[in-house]
Amino acid sequence: MFESLSERLETAFKQVKGQGRITDLNVAATVKEIRKALVDADVNYKIAKEFTDKVKDKATGEKVINAISPGQLMVKIVKDELAGLMGGEASELVLKGNPAVILIAGLQGSGKTTFSGKLANYLKLKKGKSPLLVAADIYRPAAIDQLKVLGGQIGVDVYSEPDTKDAVQIARNAVKEAHSKNKNVVIIDTAGRLAVDEAMMAEVAAIKDAVQPQEILFVVDSMTGQDAVNTAKVFNDRLDFGGVVLTKLDGDTRGGAALSIRYIVDKPIKFVSSGEKLDTLDVFYPERMAQRILGMGDITTLVEKAQEQFDAEQAARLEKKIRKNQFDFADFKQQLEQIKKMGNIKDLLGMIPGVGKAVKDLDISDDAFKGIEAMINSMTPEERANPDVIDLSRRKRIAKGAGKDVSEVHQFMKQFDQMRQMMKMMNKMPMGRMGVPRG
Ligand code: GDP
Repeated sequence: MFESLSERLETAFKQVKGQGRITDLNVAATVKEIRKALVDADVNYKIAKEFTDKVKDKATGEKVINAISPGQLMVKIVKDELAGLMGGEASELVLKGNPAVILIAGLQGSGKTTFSGKLANYLKLKKGKSPLLVAADIYRPAAIDQLKVLGGQIGVDVYSEPDTKDAVQIARNAVKEAHSKNKNVVIIDTAGRLAVDEAMMAEVAAIKDAVQPQEILFVVDSMTGQDAVNTAKVFNDRLDFGGVVLTKLDGDTRGGAALSIRYIVDKPIKFVSSGEKLDTLDVFYPERMAQRILGMGDITTLVEKAQEQFDAEQAARLEKKIRKNQFDFADFKQQLEQIKKMGNIKDLLGMIPGVGKAVKDLDISDDAFKGIEAMINSMTPEERANPDVIDLSRRKRIAKGAGKDVSEVHQFMKQFDQMRQMMKMMNKMPMGRMGVPRG
């Protein structure tokens, strides 16, 4: 995420890092580099200039000049300013009314429908809500099907009227339906066009008037940079939306939209969406994003994600097995599944300070564990529970079942064995705690 911006900023800080003192000269050079980096990340020049002027003011202040480590302080100043530029505090989704009505607007292809599914899933699983998804796109029959497929995947009902050619009417009826079916959130996915056009704007505005949503979210593809910001302005002038959703942050996004949208429309980014999997919606935290841009990682999010997946009972069971040296392939598989549920592996690694840069060129796909899983899957339950019974002929069979070479099974078994040895050793230590969370 925003890799080239991160790299450029790091280069900029070289001017002041390691220097015993901050001088007007090295601040000026750093600030100039930062400004260039921002502009190249597709941040509008005026915003970039204002930003760096603020950084410069703070960096040449008394405190910084006398600081023990001016380089570090400079990074902190930039981090705070970046967080401020993106809105400072995180902004909550507004869930008022019964049902709470959320209107989703944006251009076609921005990721509205995918986001609607993710939001419904998020509200259902994390907020205990009972959402109803509404297909209000009357122009593309495929849009209804797409929403139905998503709804089916997450177990959320989808309201549609394939034969009605009036989006306002559909939205109204959907709210009625929510009332009668005890749904407490209605998410209306509206039609989009490839470019801003009056008919589309008039239609979304009419839906807004008809159903009076307490929350309107504008969805924008972060890969579109300055265009994203311009589109946001047009939509906001017409709809006065409550928040922005930035999608496709998993792509090769330079960062311009994330950094300047708040400044231009004065509305918070509420969610960021990266990936097409329905369980990967993240609340937007400006401070954490600033940290990530500066290569400081985002341990807070990483820990939160781990906690979400953390099942106290399961952890206690696992700890017991580890302490009795009984950790087996079934446990290993379960652990892999938990890690996978936390999200995209590369994204997770990027949350560890300093690691994002190291892995940016590596091709780590979500399938990273596929080979290992295939091998575990082709073991019998007996083999999973008693790794020691796996002799050569069994290894050959496992390799065949997993579509692997037997040497890969050897290698995996060896690594697994090393892992178990390590666990054994730790169990023998006087302070034998494994750092496994206690239930
Ligand atoms: P809509 O026309 O605004 O409803 O957009 P869709 O939800 O249909 O998304 C358009 C395309 O972008 C689809 O192919 C989606 O799978 C894809 N897409 C949506 N959100 C994301 C995302 O966060 N990351 C990536 N990589 N693709 C996305």
